[in-house]
Amino acid sequence: MRILIISDIHANLTAFETVLEDAKDQWDYVWCLGDVVGYGPDPNECVELLRSLPHLCLAGNHDWAALGRLDISTFNPDARFAVTWTAESLTPDNIAYLEALPTTFVIEQYTLAHGSPREPVWEYILEPIIAAINFAHFETPYCLVGHTHQPVIYELISEHGETQALPPTYGHQRQLNGHRQIINPGSVGQPRDADSRAAYALLNLDTNTWEHRRIPYDIGAVQDRMRKHDMPERLVTRLEHGW
Ligand code: ZN
Repeated sequence: MRILIISDIHANLTAFETVLEDAKDQWDYVWCLGDVVGYGPDPNECVELLRSLPHLCLAGNHDWAALGRLDISTFNPDARFAVTWTAESLTPDNIAYLEALPTTFVIEQYTLAHGSPREPVWEYILEPIIAAINFAHFETPYCLVGHTHQPVIYELISEHGETQALPPTYGHQRQLNGHRQIINPGSVGQPRDADSRAAYALLNLDTNTWEHRRIPYDIGAVQDRMRKHDMPERLVTRLEHGW
């Protein structure tokens, strides 16, 4: 079974469609690690496209925010605008879909969470020390997370919890070697690693291989739609800078 791993689509239909085109005929099933909506101009289109695919999907913090499950007073004004706009735009049917999303999923050798196994909706694993703490919070060899919008592999290298961060090597099939790992595919719709290209990954469950991928998409088309909806300029321009 070949899995298309996507996360943090953030209502960016152009990036999502480009990823699907790039990965065409190379997967059998989709694992989506959350934040389907929030920030971008196409929340309903992205939820509906995802729903049309054979998939499972987790809840992300922005999905919950759009459902009114979070206190967004701590969000910055731009994020708050995006949450409110998204909540008002979503159809009842798509809201019902988002409401039913689980926060974690364990399947074969993989634990899935949006943020981290310790705090599935919230925690950002941005450093090896945070990854190291999280190895105690799941039982499978591997854990897949999103949320930071930065592709990376954290690998546990000693019994004492020593953990190293391995940068992604795009287009290279990495054999998962039995070392426990926390792996992030990066973000489809709002990368934050100074690379504006959409990020995703392919996982082959039969050969146990992982491949990080990057693909350019038509950022200008998304920005045009965002400006049409009077979305904050900071949210519009960040897409071209990848932060
Ligand atoms: Zn996100």
